[in-house]
Formats: sequence, C-alpha cells, structure tokens
Amino acid sequence: MAGFVDIACNFTHESFKDDLETVIANAEIAGVEKFVLLCASLKDLDPIKVIQNKAPEKYFISAGIHPHHASEINDEYLKKLHDAVNINNPHAIGETGLDFFRNLSTYEEQIYAFEEQIKIAINTNKPLFLHQRDSHNDFIKILRKYSSDINRKIVHCFTGTQEQLDDYLELDCFIGITGWICDAKRNIELRNAIKGIPLSKLMIETDCPYLLPKNIAKQGKSLALEYFNEDGDGVYPMTVQIVGKGSLYDPNNEKVRS
Ligand SMILES: [Zn+2]
Repeated sequence: MAGFVDIACNFTHESFKDDLETVIANAEIAGVEKFVLLCASLKDLDPIKVIQNKAPEKYFISAGIHPHHASEINDEYLKKLHDAVNINNPHAIGETGLDFFRNLSTYEEQIYAFEEQIKIAINTNKPLFLHQRDSHNDFIKILRKYSSDINRKIVHCFTGTQEQLDDYLELDCFIGITGWICDAKRNIELRNAIKGIPLSKLMIETDCPYLLPKNIAKQGKSLALEYFNEDGDGVYPMTVQIVGKGSLYDPNNEKVRS
C-alpha cells in the first residue's frame, strides 16, 4: 500500500488522551506513514513536540495560531510566536487563516493574526498551513497580496466550490481533502471540484478527531484514514487511485515523492 501522509492531525485534542498510541498504530496499519501535527495555539507546541520526539522521522509539526484563537494575539504573544518558531524550527506556520463560520475571534483580530503569520512564514521561508471557512473572499484577497513571497501554501480541509478551487490553484496552493467527501448531504460540489485538483497538488487528511467520515462514524476515530480504501462509490476508488499513483508532498525535505 502507498505510504500516506495525513497532513492534519490534531493529536493534542482531549479525545486522544487515553488512546493516542492505538490511534497511531491503527493509522499505520491503514497505510499512514507520516503525520503532520497541527498547532492551534502556542500551548499546543510542547505536547506536539513530546509526540514528535518519540519518532522524529514520522512527524512534522506546525506552529501558529488558529483563527479561533486570533483574539489572544497581542504584541507579547506575537513575540512569543516569533521566538517559538525560531527555537522549534517547525515545518510549517499555522494553522492560520480566517473562520467566519464560528467567529470565535472578531473580523479585525482574525485579519491581523492572519497577516502577521503570513509575514512570519515569508520571513522564515516556511510553508503556510491554511484554514478557511466561510471567508473565501477576504481570505483570497489577503493571500493574493502576499502570494508571490510565500514559499508554499496548503489550504487544508478544502470543502469549497469549483470557483474557490480555481482561485487556490491559480495561487499554486496545495489542497487538503478530508472525510467531508463521504458526507452525502454536503459533498456534491466538492466531489465535482476535486476531480480538477492536479495530482501534484492533492493531499489527504483526517483533520482528526474532526470530520470523521459519516460512513465509518460508528467504528471510531482510529479508522479515520480507511475511507480512502472504501469501495462502491465512484469518488473513493478514484481517490485511492490518485493517491496511490500520484505524489505525496513531504514538507520535511521539499521533495515530492511518488
Ligand atoms: Zn482547520
């Protein structure tokens, strides 16, 4: 089986506190070789590093402030983030972006936090790990402004339309697809749009413990990657084929491997 990289693992989430090792072992049985450990705020960094240090060849880490936590950013916090990036040398900056669905931080706070983290990614020449929900117009406007100076951009958990996908691909973004494709009520546009993602730009992710595919929800979170092995529906075998034959992005050494 192809060696998958799950590009979005929220392993610091409390739901993993009793069984993380089992979850990881099961994911490895399902073919996942590497995991990108996401950071939503600075308090995630230490626990993420504890996991990473157990097997550094297996884990990539990000460092950044999720838009839900944008309200926490002030000059002092920003300085701490700069220092944390310098000290920990993460593989990517994020997750950062805009989320107007839940609006846990204000519009202004989110814009400010997003732009400041883009500047960090530019200054450190690190990839940006991006989150966008219900905010495409503002998000793409900001991204366009800085795009040419950003090393690489990963738009994770893409659930949007063909137009939005075109905007991202025009900026040369990598696109992360989750178990959302298994949600028959919400996936119609997405299933059409993903057929237009070039193999070299397609990434897979669980965004675990979130976005568990509906068709395996009863079986528990540890099976979160196996939906890519499902049969019986046009999209899933296509996705397996694409992933199996295509390239997986390795943020550690900048190479694209097949
Ligand atoms: Zn996200």
